[in-house]
Amino acid sequence: TLARIGVTGLAVMGANLARNLARHGHVVAVHNRSGSRTRALIEEHGHEGAFVACETPEEFVAALERPRRVLVMVKAGAPTDAVIERFAPLLEPGDMLVDGGNAHFLDTRRREAALRERGVHFVGCGVSGGEEGALLGPSIMPGGSAESYAALGPLLEDIAAKVDGVPCCTHIGPDGAGHFVKMVHNGIEYADMQLIAEAYDLLRQGLGMSPAELAGVFAEWNRGELSSYLIEITAEVLRQVDAATGRPFVDVVADRAEQKGTGRWTVQIALDLGVPVSGIAEAVFARSVSGDAGLREAARGLPGPPAPVAGPAGEGFVEDVRRALYASKIVAYAQGFDQIRAGSAEYGWAVDPGALATIWRGGCIIRAVFLDRIREAYAAAEQPATLLVAPYFAEALALAQRSWRRVVAAAAELGVPAPGFSSALAYYDALRAERLPAALIQGQRDFFGAHTYRRVDREGVFHTLWSGDRTEVEG
Ligand code: NDP
Repeated sequence: TLARIGVTGLAVMGANLARNLARHGHVVAVHNRSGSRTRALIEEHGHEGAFVACETPEEFVAALERPRRVLVMVKAGAPTDAVIERFAPLLEPGDMLVDGGNAHFLDTRRREAALRERGVHFVGCGVSGGEEGALLGPSIMPGGSAESYAALGPLLEDIAAKVDGVPCCTHIGPDGAGHFVKMVHNGIEYADMQLIAEAYDLLRQGLGMSPAELAGVFAEWNRGELSSYLIEITAEVLRQVDAATGRPFVDVVADRAEQKGTGRWTVQIALDLGVPVSGIAEAVFARSVSGDAGLREAARGLPGPPAPVAGPAGEGFVEDVRRALYASKIVAYAQGFDQIRAGSAEYGWAVDPGALATIWRGGCIIRAVFLDRIREAYAAAEQPATLLVAPYFAEALALAQRSWRRVVAAAAELGVPAPGFSSALAYYDALRAERLPAALIQGQRDFFGAHTYRRVDREGVFHTLWSGDRTEVEG
C-alpha cells in the first residue's frame, strides 16, 4: 500500500511526528539524508505502526499516494532549501511540500511563490510543543493554500493535541502565515518565561525564599488563573536538586540564557511593522544581557541601593507578585496578538486571532487556561482594539493595579532587575494616558529639524520659526 504521508528529516522532531502519525494508523514513508537515522527509527519504533523506510528521495516519492504529502523536518535555513531543491523536481502539480521546521516566514513566502509556479503547494507549518509534543500531540500552525489544507488538515488535526475535543490545529492563512504566527508564539514564550523568571527573582531576593519554597509557590499558582505549562515546569525546575553537590539545581546552572533566534525575529519584524512588543523585546534583551559576560564583569562593582533595604512584607508580597505577573502577562500576550493582527493586515492573511488562541490552548509551550480567556475575548461581537480593553482582561488589570505598582516599586528599591514587569506597566500607563509627552518630542523635532507638528485645536500642519521671531506659520 502507498503511504498517506511521508516524513523526511528524522532527527528528534521528524521521528516523533512520524511515530505520532503511525500510531494514529496512517501509513508513513520515512526518509533521512543519512540512512542511519531511518534504520534506527525502524529498529526502535517500527512496531508502533506502518512505516515504509526509504533510502533515496526517489524511492520515498514513489512510496506516496497522490497528491503526495511530504513533511520536511530538517534544520531551518540552508538545509531546508537543499531539501526543497532535491525533492521539488520529483514532485508533480498538486503535491504538497510541508516545512515543519522553524523557518523565517519571509523565507517561506519566497519558497511558496517559487513552488507555486511549478504547481506544488508549499506549506510553511509551525509546530510547537518540542519533542514531546511532536510525539504525543503538538499545536500545529499550517499556512499555505486553502486547497492544501483540505488535503492535509484531517491528518494534521488527527495528530494534534486536543482540548475539549477540539484539535490544536487550524489553517492559519496563505503562504507564510503559519510560520509568522509560530514566530510570534515563540516571542510570547520568551516574554512569559522572562516574567516568570522575574517573579522568582523578586521573591527570592525580596523575601529570601529558597528554591524549594518557591517551587511550592509556583505549584500553588498553577492551580489558579496563572495555570499553565510554563508555571508548572517552573515549579519542577525549582524543586530539582543537583545530585553532584546537593545544591538547588537552579543555583548550579550558569546564568546565561541562550536563544536560537525566533524571539529576535519577532522583535525585528515588530519594529518593521511598527508594533510595540516591549514585553518580547525586553525578554530578548534580558537574555542578551545575561549572556554578555564581559559587560557584566565590568559593571559588577557598580553600587546598588544602600543596605539594608527594608524588605517587602511576606505573604502580601507573594500575592502582589502573583498579580503583577498576571497583569504583565496580559500585556505581553496583548502585544503579541497586536503583532499578529498587524502582520495579517500587512500580508493579507486574514488570520483569525480567536482561532489561534484556540489552537494554543494545548500542545504548545505557552498552553494555558489563559488562552481560553483570549479566545472568548475575540469571540465577542466586536473585536477588542487591544486585549487590554476586553472586559475580562480590563477587570483583571484593574484588580492587579496596586499590586503591580508595589512590585515594580519594590524591584527598583531592592535593585532587582524587572524589565518585563516594569515595561509592561509603562506600556499600560502609556496606553491609558490622557496626554503623552510625545507633544514635547514633536516640539523638539520641530525646533531642530523643522519637522512640523499638528495642533489639538485646529486642522493643519504647523511650524514655529524657532530661530526667528518664534511666531507660528502654517506648513
Ligand atoms: P535539527 O534541527 O537538529 O536537524 C537535523 C535534521 O536535519 C537531520 O535529519 C539532518 O539530517 C537534517 N539535515 C541537516 N542538513 C541537511 C541537508 N543539507 N540536507 C538534508 N537534511 C539535512 O532537528 P530537530 O528535529 O531538532 O528539528 C527539526 C526542525 O524542527 C528544525 O527546523 C527545528 O527548528 C524545528 N523545531 C524543533 C523543535 C525542537 O524542540 N527541537 C520544536 C519545533 C520545531 P542528517 O541526519 O542526515 O544529518
